[in-house]
Amino acid sequence: MAKTIQAIRGMNDLLPEQTAAWQQVEAMIRQVAASYGYQEIRMPVLESTALFKRSIGEVTDIVEKEMYTFDDRNGESVTLRPEGTASCVRAGNQHGLLYNQIQRLWYIGPMFRYERPQKGRYRQFHQFGIETFGLEGADADAEVILLSARLWQAFGIADQVELQLNSLGSNEARARYREALREYLDQYKSELDEDSQRRLDTNPLRILDSKDANTQQLLAQAPKLSDYWDEASKQHFEELTARLDAAGIQYVFNERLVRGLDYYNRTVFEWVTTALGAQGTVCAGGRYDGLVEQLGGKATPAVGFAMGMERLVLLLQEQNKLAPRRAVDAYLMPLGEAAELNAQAVAEKLRNELPDLRIIVHSGGGAMKKQIKKADKSGAEVALILGDNELENNQLTVKPLRTTDDQQTLGWSELIVALKPLTQE
Ligand code: ATP
Ligand code: MG
Repeated sequence: MAKTIQAIRGMNDLLPEQTAAWQQVEAMIRQVAASYGYQEIRMPVLESTALFKRSIGEVTDIVEKEMYTFDDRNGESVTLRPEGTASCVRAGNQHGLLYNQIQRLWYIGPMFRYERPQKGRYRQFHQFGIETFGLEGADADAEVILLSARLWQAFGIADQVELQLNSLGSNEARARYREALREYLDQYKSELDEDSQRRLDTNPLRILDSKDANTQQLLAQAPKLSDYWDEASKQHFEELTARLDAAGIQYVFNERLVRGLDYYNRTVFEWVTTALGAQGTVCAGGRYDGLVEQLGGKATPAVGFAMGMERLVLLLQEQNKLAPRRAVDAYLMPLGEAAELNAQAVAEKLRNELPDLRIIVHSGGGAMKKQIKKADKSGAEVALILGDNELENNQLTVKPLRTTDDQQTLGWSELIVALKPLTQE
């Protein structure tokens, strides 16, 4: 026998038993995004490598070691997108959506990063993202946070996630702080963990979220980012927290939250859970006022977030918050040759009347007993029996499969009334 081919490590199939849960989550996301007036944008999964180098930053984890980059047949360097914001800005610039306009956009789709696969961390994963363009006020930051908070509410997991909040200040403030931090840590260079030593020269801010205990201890006495905030950023942050307070959104001020992508300024935030082990961040975002211009557009303020769909689904499953609709409501069983000939036509009529009814027509004939077994296995709530009598009288016999209720032979209009509730469960 030929050897079977396996999927690439870290890239998962979603089987039918899982897709129902995903569809349920996606439906909620669409509904909530729409309820804030956000519109969907779809971007290609493959982009020029330069796009990500220029936006995410050359010395970030993503660009240094996580991107799927290769030359296409024309010798051009292309990359499977590791995130959505850069693509969204590229698309906005290319199609003139951003300058002097307000856009509220969302996207959902696969992202690709070459990481060590583990629970909540994969090489192909999915993000739902929100991007708001053209608004510089803190009300826009509050809006995207409120939108994410509404999702937790809608899913019943608001008590499982904590909002962590920080401000990076202006680019100048951040640059001054970076120097101060570098100078401070340079004194203890040999005591830092290996990763942090390397980052000291390239990206010292990332040292702030080092997991190394000794490094963390050294950071306790380090200069504070908030001491370097410029006045306007400080005020912006206060306006944001005032709005969150007014809306009853709780948050924790996390001085060390800096995020791993270069394009952020001012607000950064993460929604974190303790329920998923090490991969605890389900949603992360912030403001990126410089990115549109950096990618060739006219300066346009922007703020957004990305939510990790796998982590969200994992969390919802662990909390038992998903109860997707059953895949099949009714299983139509034709008994006899004439019934078999007409069964599909009868099912078509039912679908005309009840577009939300999920009905399978038994295929392959066989006795009542065999068909009942298949009906049961399909997960259907009821079997619909079509015998010679029923066919002649324009009736169907409804046999409950999940309760001990008696079966009933019903005429067409009664049948529609009886089946309707199944479409609404
Ligand atoms: P982490 O610190 O977990 O590596 P990150 O800072 O790299 O996350 P972002 O680039 O901000 O993550 O992406 C936003 C969200 O996308 C993350 O909070 C997480 O929920 C999800 N995510 C990121 N990388 C992965 C991955 N490899 N597999 C699954 N989900 C991911
Ligand atoms: Mg990462």
